[in-house]
Amino acid sequence: MNNQNISNKILFWYDNNKRELPWRKRTSTKNREYYTLVSEFMLQQTQVKTVVPYFINFINKFPNLRKLAYSNERKILKNWEGLGYYSRARNLKKTAIKLLKEFNGKLPKDIEKLKSLPGIGEYTSSSILAIAHNKPFIPMDGNVERILKRLFLLKNKNEVSRENLNIKKSFFGFSKRSSDYAQAIMEMGALICKPILPLCSHCPLVENCKAFKKKDFVIKSKNKYNKVKYFEANVFRKKNKYLLIKNKKFGFLRNLVIFPMTEINKKQFNSLDFKKINVKMSNMNMKIVLNDYKKIKKISNSLLLDKSNINKYILPSFTKKIFSSLSH
Ligand code: SF4
Repeated sequence: MNNQNISNKILFWYDNNKRELPWRKRTSTKNREYYTLVSEFMLQQTQVKTVVPYFINFINKFPNLRKLAYSNERKILKNWEGLGYYSRARNLKKTAIKLLKEFNGKLPKDIEKLKSLPGIGEYTSSSILAIAHNKPFIPMDGNVERILKRLFLLKNKNEVSRENLNIKKSFFGFSKRSSDYAQAIMEMGALICKPILPLCSHCPLVENCKAFKKKDFVIKSKNKYNKVKYFEANVFRKKNKYLLIKNKKFGFLRNLVIFPMTEINKKQFNSLDFKKINVKMSNMNMKIVLNDYKKIKKISNSLLLDKSNINKYILPSFTKKIFSSLSH
């Protein structure tokens, strides 16, 4: 079967099955570029269903590039609150400023220029070229990877390497509808070729799929296992007041407000007999022991947060999780 047939089959499926996503509703070229930029930043490391309400709210608050570039960072972060990876929000604002200053408010069509923008790497630049500019790129996200691994039953380390996956990607060929085609393949991965229990009977590629023929759908990953780290968090509180600090110490959640924390080892963690919680981050599993002091300690650069005003602050979900696990 030639590439043309493959792309026609995938696009036919997409036209009949795609989700109505808010960034797919476009009224002008300007909107298409801006919506793609915002959605691609939000979708880095985050699932579509989580992003949708954030995207709708964000576009209401910052309807265009200019408004975003000239908005106060605190306001932008407030509207990003809960989505995580806050550096994305800061980079998005920096990118908006740079686009206005150096690119006349437009997304460049050159991959190297795109990659020179804050927060835009290989993957996001190819997504922007495909989706916003209709260029023949197929970004390699987790969905595309999974489809390829199953189509060709790729199992060993060399087979699942980035290099080999890029070679195998030629299976898809290209289409004149590059923007739709890139989204169609990713959509197929998300809706049909799911990580667990793929819906092969609905798949336009079922005749081409080795995994389907062998009934072997197990995906080999590049050993992305999360390491476990141990922390001791100190909760200093008196009545409704809680002591928090601006995090300068840890690379994750930099500059965000957290409870004072120290990293400890497993032995120390196990020896402490206080309340313990688990928090899953993208790159580690955090095991946190909570020392709950019913007093306030003097710590420089700290702030006292009134629990009744909690919504006024930009707090990472991480800090909120500790809050909600405390018996008040
Ligand atoms: S046939 Fe099944 S396993 Fe193969 S690509 Fe389609 S959904 Fe995935």
